Amino acid sequence: MISLWTDISYKRKYKSLEGNEKTNVLIIGGGLAGLLCAYKLHKQGIDYILIEKEKICGGNTKNTSAKITFQHGLIYNKLMKGGGYEKALMYLNANMKAFEEMKELCMKNQCDFQEKDAYVYSLDNAKVIEDEAQALLKLGFESQVEKTVNLPFNIAAALKFPCQGQFNPLKFAYGISENLNICENTFAKKIKGHTVITDKGEITAEKIIITTHFPFINRYGLYSLKMYQHRSYITAYENGPDIGGMYVDEAMNGMSFRNAGNYLFIGGGDHRTGKKGGGFDEIRAFAKKYYPSLKEKYAWAAQDCITLDDIPYIGRYSLLTPDIYTAAGFNKWGMTTSMAAADILCDEIMGVKNENTEVFRPSRSILKPRLFANIFEAGINLLTPGKRCPHLGCALKWNKYEKTWDCPCHGSRFSENGVILDNPSQKNLKTKLK
Ligand SMILES: Cc1cc2nc3c(=O)[nH]c(=O)nc-3n(C[C@H](O)[C@H](O)[C@H](O)COP(=O)(O)OP(=O)(O)OC[C@H]3O[C@@H](n4cnc5c(N)ncnc54)[C@H](O)[C@@H]3O)c2cc1C
Repeated sequence: MISLWTDISYKRKYKSLEGNEKTNVLIIGGGLAGLLCAYKLHKQGIDYILIEKEKICGGNTKNTSAKITFQHGLIYNKLMKGGGYEKALMYLNANMKAFEEMKELCMKNQCDFQEKDAYVYSLDNAKVIEDEAQALLKLGFESQVEKTVNLPFNIAAALKFPCQGQFNPLKFAYGISENLNICENTFAKKIKGHTVITDKGEITAEKIIITTHFPFINRYGLYSLKMYQHRSYITAYENGPDIGGMYVDEAMNGMSFRNAGNYLFIGGGDHRTGKKGGGFDEIRAFAKKYYPSLKEKYAWAAQDCITLDDIPYIGRYSLLTPDIYTAAGFNKWGMTTSMAAADILCDEIMGVKNENTEVFRPSRSILKPRLFANIFEAGINLLTPGKRCPHLGCALKWNKYEKTWDCPCHGSRFSENGVILDNPSQKNLKTKLK
């Protein structure tokens, strides 16, 4: 099950770490977030090393649907209500700036970038769409409410953000990383003060940025309470119709659509990792009903970290670790929020004031309803008998679609034979399971 991007993009290879090193900034994790941090530091002439445990963008970034937009579902009305005008404006400004920067970089790197309108639709609730348009207007951004879209079913309403974009994330990643100081196949095992111990040697750094998708130090920052992972499935159909835009359902478990060359991507079947959900069956049933003549060519899945308030954690890892930073919890909108993270973290490291940091501060209040849902899920799975996850000991669940063992608490995943596929676990399972 490989993504279209993995199949059609060329690969770039990097050396591994050789011996011990010293640097100003060490970035751990070479997904889009880590690469963009490295790119920005490189541009500023700051000494840095990026280490990646396997291949750059071999994690979730290779399986994204790669829509570049600051339309993140119906986030703005929610932010206005929950955090107020100032925070919603910071979120919008950070992501609008990030969008422009991504677009500029796409223009310089051949990555099949195309300008497309982005739509978020509701099947049955026009009011939530209209409320989002009003919230955006108060923030100074004019979106458009539409009653129909170029999809084969009826909707109540959709909100259009004109002139957003889509691209091939791997071509982009290999393009921007050409001259970066990257060590692949270098696994960060632990951090002792300012020294990171890897499987290839030790690196001492003044500042450390953790962009490992799910932050891997358990002792600080409470990330295991503050995040869970949500898995989504994508199928690519050959010779699909041109749907003229990029679409997401406002409902958490709805469908998403975009074109990529002559393919039509349909996304959906979502569920909390380790729990039951529609998976590929749901998408295939949908495609059979609405696009019966199309032939499936690729099918793959990925997951992203979901925060307590739908806002990523970007900034100091915790109050007790002043020189460690993170960018995580992109809530399935990591194309612009990774760039926003690179902006914020590089400014922080260079001592430059950034107007948009506060809304993303990782140490903000955790008293949100999702915290209690996460605690409940952890409690249940810690008490459930069965094979244990090496991360914090929750019971693993068998995923029949992908033939993997998945953790419902924090989203670690393991192959049939116990090999780690997705963190936060840092270890393989001890025994072969099947
Ligand atoms: C199905 C799906 C569709 C999506 N579609 C969109 C979209 O259309 N638009 C959008 O904006 N966002 C989208 N997203 C979200 C986006 O794909 C992610 O937010 C983004 O790719 C996450 O990038 P990352 O760098 O945080 O993580 P990753 O790409 O997972 O990178 C983390 C890297 O860290 C490395 N690593 C981990 N631990 C260590 C260690 N100990 N030492 C060294 N390296 C380590 C891993 O190997 C990995 O390469 C989607 C997400 C999903 C699940």
